[in-house]
Amino acid sequence: MNKFLESIKRYQKNKKALLATNFYNAETLHAILMAAKRENSEVILQTSPATLYYLGVDMAVAMVRAAANEHNVTAWLHLDHATDSALILQCIKAGYDSVMVDASELEFSENVQLTKEIVSAAHEKYIAVEAELGYIPKLGQSGVIESGLTTPKQAENFVSQTGIDLLAVAIGTAHGFYKEKPKLDFDRLKEIRNVTNIPLVLHGGSGLSHDEWQMAIQNGICKINFATEIKDTFMKTIRNSMMESEEIDLRKVFLPGIETTAKLVESKIQICSMN
Ligand SMILES: [Zn+2]
Repeated sequence: MNKFLESIKRYQKNKKALLATNFYNAETLHAILMAAKRENSEVILQTSPATLYYLGVDMAVAMVRAAANEHNVTAWLHLDHATDSALILQCIKAGYDSVMVDASELEFSENVQLTKEIVSAAHEKYIAVEAELGYIPKLGQSGVIESGLTTPKQAENFVSQTGIDLLAVAIGTAHGFYKEKPKLDFDRLKEIRNVTNIPLVLHGGSGLSHDEWQMAIQNGICKINFATEIKDTFMKTIRNSMMESEEIDLRKVFLPGIETTAKLVESKIQICSMN
């Protein structure tokens, strides 16, 4: 079996979650690995397609493997929210541990079809596949709608028809910062948990409370995606420190951002590891 899946299933069994953080450059990658090291924890490092257009697939893979090795941390590399099959296949070939195919905005049958194709290509190389069912609003899209939430019945059918390894569920979260307090449907999550054994993923971890993270984990989530607050914390810190300084040594300029981001990620790893 894929070692990443073996690991996340251990978290699932112990009612804990693996934190899945997006990184964007060497600095945010360092920050996340520093946090994982301090907490003596594994971590999932995610790249969105936008990050791959920025860094390049081969460079992203090489950076993650080298940095994880230098920090002596177990880090799993995951492709986040990909819609382009060619990019997904490129990541499978390049050595990702796991890929997400996001066909959630297509009709159910089309979502099943595209996801199945990716599962078949990924499983040939023992790579895990995450897919999304329901509607988890993306940045710039309108908010959560009741009809967009994942139904247990559809989840059961989707998992059995596609053979996916991880399922991203829509239970009231959204991407980016929340404009109003989200209402998470934990009863729905419990019902989904009851109809399938595979690891369940919560997207939109930024802006949720400590208790909401814990409730999600206790009711069946074992991977939490966390991105927006990382960008926000890193950029706010360096913007402030640059206003007060004329420093041009960029190796010094980014250090405060790395430290505040590491502290933020540490606090989230702690919530994921509680029981
Ligand atoms: Zn997401």
